[in-house]
Parts: sequence; C-alpha cells; structure tokens
Amino acid sequence: MAATMMDGRALAERIRSEVAEEVRALGGVTLATVLVGDDVASDIYIRRKHEAAEAAGFRARDLRLPAAISEAELLERVAVLNADPDVDALLVQLPLPDGIDEARVIRAVEPKKDVDGFHPLNAGELLLGRPRLVPATARGVLALLYEYRIELDGARAVVVGRSAIVGKPVAQLLEQANATVTIGHSHTRDLDRHTLDADVLVVAAGRAGMVSPDMIKAGATVIDVGISRTDAGLVGDVDPGAAVVASHLTPVPGGVGPMTIACLLQNAVVCARLRRD
Ligand code: NAP
Repeated sequence: MAATMMDGRALAERIRSEVAEEVRALGGVTLATVLVGDDVASDIYIRRKHEAAEAAGFRARDLRLPAAISEAELLERVAVLNADPDVDALLVQLPLPDGIDEARVIRAVEPKKDVDGFHPLNAGELLLGRPRLVPATARGVLALLYEYRIELDGARAVVVGRSAIVGKPVAQLLEQANATVTIGHSHTRDLDRHTLDADVLVVAAGRAGMVSPDMIKAGATVIDVGISRTDAGLVGDVDPGAAVVASHLTPVPGGVGPMTIACLLQNAVVCARLRRD
C-alpha cells in the first residue's frame, strides 16, 4: 500500500492563519531581517519570509547591507535592532560573507529576539529540555509528526544529519518526545543498519536520493528535509520509491519546506510574547 503523503502545505497554511490571529491579538508584531551581500538564494529566502510575514499581518523591516561591510559595523547594526523597542523578532540571514565570524554575529542577537533559535542560549535551553525559541525547520518536522499522530513515545527514531540548524534540534525534540534517538552523519558506518531499525526516520543530509527504499523499514514514517536543485527540479534526500515501503512520507517539494516559514512566523510570535511578558 502506498504511504500517506504528509501535506506540509496544508498544515503550514493553517499555522499561518493561526499566527495571523495571534498577531492581531497582540496588536502587531515587527520582524526585522538583515541580509548582507547579494547572494541570490539568500535574497529569495528573505523575500519569501517577508511575503509570508506581511500576509500574516506582521510589520516587517528589511535591512540590506553591502557584502563589504566589516564585522564591527554589522555587529553595531545588530545592536541597534536589539535595542529598538519596536522590533520584536530579528534574524540575520546566513551564510554571511567570508571574513565575518558567523558564530559571533549569532551570539550578538538578543536571545529574546532570536527568531531563528540559533543563539547559544536558546540552543542550550533546548538541550536542557526547556525549548523556547527552536530552529523553525525542526519545529516544522515535529509539527508534521504531531499532525499525523505519529507515535513517538518509545519509538526508535533515526536522524541523518547533525547540523545545528536541523539535525541536532530535531534529535533533541524527538528525544524529549520520548523517542530513542540515533544520529547518523557522514562518518556513520553502515548507515542502513540504523535506518532499517527506524520507526521514524528524519533525513537532513543534503544528498539527493541518498536514502533508497531498501534502507527503510516497512511501515516507517519518513520525513525528508533535504532539498537539492537538479535538472529534474527540486528533489529530496529520500528516493520517492520510499512511498511503497513507508507508512507516511513527506513530499519534496510540499513537505517540510512550507513548514519552515510558517514555524518561523510562530517563533516571531513567541519573541513578541517573551518581550511583553
Ligand atoms: P549541513 O549543515 O550541510 O549538514 C548536513 C549533515 O548531513 C551533516 O551533519 C553531515 O555529516 C550529514 N551528511 C552529509 N552527507 C552524509 C551522508 N552521505 N551520510 C550521512 N550523513 C551525511 O546541512 P543542513 O543545513 O542541515 O541541511 C540539510 C539539508 O536540508 C539540505 O539539503 C538543506 O537544503 C535542507 N534544508 C531544508 C530546509 C527546509 O525548509 N526544507 C531547511 C533547512 C535545510 P557531517 O556532520 O559528518 O558533515
């Protein structure tokens, strides 16, 4: 039997309308973004975030800075936005140009305005089991699992990928939902021994089609975070043939992708509440 396709577009749409109601109830929320340089992909991501934010009734600020800006000047701009009482949520689009220390810039963002959830304080709160501002993609993965009522308590979960923005926070949230979690990465031997054991498999490696159907346990839930641009269009890390083996599968596009922006907007509402409480 073919897997149920987990519809990230529909869930993201619902979350966005709930966010719009919360923004109205809060009397407005302001999201500020900082884009350094003219990277084409980053420009597209920022535009999408602004379109979604404006559609949900946010006030948005779109600060564009030249690629040649010094780290000190960028830190000064971040400090101004941190101190601005009208700004609830703030993100600095990554990657930053060579010569700028990304970790330093992430640390400079006021933790209560850290809508991306990348600040070490927010990452630490998550690690300690007190999630507050959690990276949006990880939040989106868990929201899909809850929406489709996937049993996590006691489940064996495998996360392929250990980045700070996807793999690690997903693994922490799964563990906090009482799954038993294994994290795979580029040094993992015999990855299929682990994936074949997974009731819940989350793949965030950025390697097109690397998980083949024979690496998946019959009836597993498979969340494909990967996005690669190929001649055939956007593809995920999981071979679409997985639909024959899995019980639930996220499509690419239309699975995790739309959830990321919706959950970023949810985080912006969390920022607004943190600052007003
Ligand atoms: P990343 O920082 O490059 O991390 C990739 C992770 O995958 C690393 O931990 C790496 O291991 C591991 N890995 C790479 N090749 C592997 C292999 N052959 N076997 C096992 N593990 C392997 O990437 P990321 O930012 O986490 O993003 C991952 C993917 O998700 C990308 O395709 C990205 O475009 C996509 N993404 C999608 C969304 C969305 O909204 N849908 C959001 C964010 C990211 P090491 O640590 O050992 O290097």
